Amino acid sequence: MSYLQSVPPHDLEAHLADHDSKSVLRFITCGSVDDGKSTLIGRLLFDAKLIFEDQLMNLGRVGSPGAANGEEIDLALLLDGLEAEREQGITIDVAYRYFATSKRKFIVADTPGHEEYTRNMVTGASTADLAVILIDSRQGILQQTRRHSYIVSLLGIRHVVLAVNKVDLVEFRQSVFDEIARDYGAFAKKLGFASIQTIPISARFGDNVISASPNTPWYKGPALLEYLETVQLDPPEAERPFRFPVQLVMRPNADFRGYAGQIASGRISVGDPVVVAKSGQRSSVKAIVTYDGNLATAAEGEAVTLVLADEVDASRGNMVVAPASRPFVADQFQAHVIWFDANPMLPGRSYILRTETDSVSATVTALKHQVNINSFVREAAKSLQMNEVGVCNISTQAPIAFDAYKENRATGNFIFVDRVTNATVGAGLIDFPLRRADNVHWQATDVNKGARAAMKSQRPAVLWFTGLSGSGKSTIANALDRLLHARGKHTYMLDGDNVRHGLNRDLGFTEADRVENIRRVAEVAKLMADAGLIVLVSFISPFRDERRMARELMEEGEFIEIFVDTPLEECARRDPKGLYEKALAGKIANFTGVSSPYEAPENPELHLKTIEDDPIALALKIEAFLDGQMETK
Ligand code: ADP
Repeated sequence: MSYLQSVPPHDLEAHLADHDSKSVLRFITCGSVDDGKSTLIGRLLFDAKLIFEDQLMNLGRVGSPGAANGEEIDLALLLDGLEAEREQGITIDVAYRYFATSKRKFIVADTPGHEEYTRNMVTGASTADLAVILIDSRQGILQQTRRHSYIVSLLGIRHVVLAVNKVDLVEFRQSVFDEIARDYGAFAKKLGFASIQTIPISARFGDNVISASPNTPWYKGPALLEYLETVQLDPPEAERPFRFPVQLVMRPNADFRGYAGQIASGRISVGDPVVVAKSGQRSSVKAIVTYDGNLATAAEGEAVTLVLADEVDASRGNMVVAPASRPFVADQFQAHVIWFDANPMLPGRSYILRTETDSVSATVTALKHQVNINSFVREAAKSLQMNEVGVCNISTQAPIAFDAYKENRATGNFIFVDRVTNATVGAGLIDFPLRRADNVHWQATDVNKGARAAMKSQRPAVLWFTGLSGSGKSTIANALDRLLHARGKHTYMLDGDNVRHGLNRDLGFTEADRVENIRRVAEVAKLMADAGLIVLVSFISPFRDERRMARELMEEGEFIEIFVDTPLEECARRDPKGLYEKALAGKIANFTGVSSPYEAPENPELHLKTIEDDPIALALKIEAFLDGQMETK
């Protein structure tokens, strides 16, 4: 048996579990182009005598395989020769190398191509426990090092080895090493790694790769392999919920229907209840079929075919899951996106989004910010350039089933594929569904929103009046309410102040309380809209973020933002509640417009100027807008 194989890690782990109980460490290597990744992996395999002679022959320059140190064999060639074995599929361009020592088994995601390096790193990393980040001693910490480290942390890898390579080229000087170690420690503090081990190495000559080097007597820590063999990994997480992305529906004859795929997480036994993620159809497992016969139980990593007790509809891209813990099913979500392509990512452009088994058309609806790799500060951006990371809202043409990446790395990631070139242009880690999309688990009732609205002959809506205190929100809302009522419409007025007297009595005016206040008002408005009502919400709501949050709760087109625009001086002059007088005298803290900002809406559905029209005229404008909407519907 060869020790060096390219095998998909999932199959491999199942295979290993069958054979013995040695622990498995999965790792990736990161570094800039010439930092020596391939040489390092080659050196590990070579010096640990994990390479067989036939493979050495292929290198063309075979010395004595035993005489490792000092031998100038081009170890990078070894890996390049294996490039043809690359994995195909979604995690493209990543080959998994497997080797073992007497203490541990290792799976290293190897990324042979030098160009498009970040992409390989991301796709190879979603199962890794540890990252070996290579640095060239002569160069120290580069932008690239920071970027890779940030991405490694984003990917959820908690252990890092900083391999300070090419120490031979700086005469094995301790001062160089110490400085790099110190700089990196300071930088990486913010990334929250569980462990960072810094090791001076020479991948080319083998110093501190397998065993302690006589050239670095000042270094008292472990050699790389020794460290990889002994590093304490996080205890296995509590078992995660069952996730089975369907790869293929098997229908060899009319009597048999099975769903083939690989268990992404959790375990399953015959008789267990399951749910089809997208439709919510329930069933149970009748049989777990494999090539080697049926199983009673199967677990993460195993490739099986599930036969269910009932006819359900689960095609490729759907997931069969545990009923007690269902994934999200949504067509809108927020994700961290890492961009690989030379053409920048542009909001609004259409890409193919691929998850483990699903593939849908998708657009980035908003690039919320990009992350500065040096300071981790959020920065406004209109596009993402190659190797940049940003936080985006994404909208897919059809709902997909997923988990938050933090909860489940296997079912929380995706890639973006260019429609024309078919190249992988970005990768994403899903943060959470956007709430306006998260309506699948809504309790399905027979009398639904549509039925209730139809009975009232109206289209439910949430009319969200925002503006300064005294701008005229309540006055106009009240006028509109009377108009609508006179036409037989079913309405309800929700006033920010009134809600504070009851439902939100427990809330104050801290930032957190204000967010909670608006959340509850919006949730109540949403329920009322679900009841089929036209809801008039009068709420200063000075912050764009808060209004966006309310908007995202509602169905598309249901939230109508009405900016009641009145200059501050005019509001202060009207001062219907006598509040401005007090606020201007400094008696009210955080008073909007006086001691706290008002962020005017950028794209309200309606912009009303109260100095130009009286309340009735403005209410008529809103009514006309609503009528227009009914027609276009
Ligand atoms: P808000 O609800 O925004 O705090 P209110 O509606 O309670 O404001 O108060 C607005 C005051 O301004 C009322 O006294 C109203 O009569 C007066 N007002 C004068 N012109 C207008 C107008 N064009 N639109 C709305 N209100 C107006």
